[in-house]
Amino acid sequence: MPQTSPADAPQTTRTARETKPRAKSGKTPIIQVRNLEKTYTTARGALTLFSKLSLDVQTGEMVAIVGQSGAGKSTLLHILGALDAPTAGTVTCASVNVALLSQQEAAAFRNREIGYVWQFHYLLPEFTALENVAMPLLARGVNKREALATAANWLREVDLEDRGGHRPGELSGGEQQRVALARALVNNPRLLLADEPTGDLDEATASRVFDLIERLHTSHGLTSIIVTHNMDLAARSTRILRLEAGRLASGRLAAPVYTPQTGPRAGKI
Ligand code: ADP
Repeated sequence: MPQTSPADAPQTTRTARETKPRAKSGKTPIIQVRNLEKTYTTARGALTLFSKLSLDVQTGEMVAIVGQSGAGKSTLLHILGALDAPTAGTVTCASVNVALLSQQEAAAFRNREIGYVWQFHYLLPEFTALENVAMPLLARGVNKREALATAANWLREVDLEDRGGHRPGELSGGEQQRVALARALVNNPRLLLADEPTGDLDEATASRVFDLIERLHTSHGLTSIIVTHNMDLAARSTRILRLEAGRLASGRLAAPVYTPQTGPRAGKI
């Protein structure tokens, strides 16, 4: 059997357990936002969601963003992840000024650096779980055999190795979201951006999916930003930020989210 030296080995794919080099300390801001403004032009005039918004996120943080519906949380997440452009201001994300990227550059940046998870899984219904997870690898030209092998590793990471042949319609809501997580991380990004990732799940399933997000966050040295309405889950992040009236304020739980006396409750911040 021919021997393959490490130098000859394919360089395009990493296994699920391998990670990019990460900053050792939490001192390097991986996200720096300065004077961010987002104004939509609507039929009823200009709608400014925020102006002069600034934010630093350190490597390795898990930040929860909370706030009322319509406050602009999803818009902010989209801008951080180069899915939407700000009206003004700078966004440096993983050393890239994302506001200056062309559409093509933004797509390459997202594929390389960012894993997205949404409230709805957006898995392709006609493909199996394994094929769905392999999709981002195939999109960047990894050969099919390698892509499927890496995807299988990721299904193992989310405890779904026995569901690879199932189509999304044959999976539970929690399983679908775990497949979506594997797909989000299969390219080994540095950032995980999640928009209400447990919003469509019952309480127990939401908690288990959040457990998995925490586990992957730690084991893969991710920096994660999670938009959520669920204060119990937000309280498990390393920092809570509340977006309100165009400003990001540090959130502090006004009362313990859980005490044996009160049981689980939605903490107010
Ligand atoms: P959140 O995630 O906090 O619920 P969003 O970021 O989704 O808030 O939306 C914030 C506000 O911006 C909402 O009032 C929404 O209607 C408005 N909005 C979002 N996208 C657009 C758009 N493309 N054009 C005009 N208004 C928009």
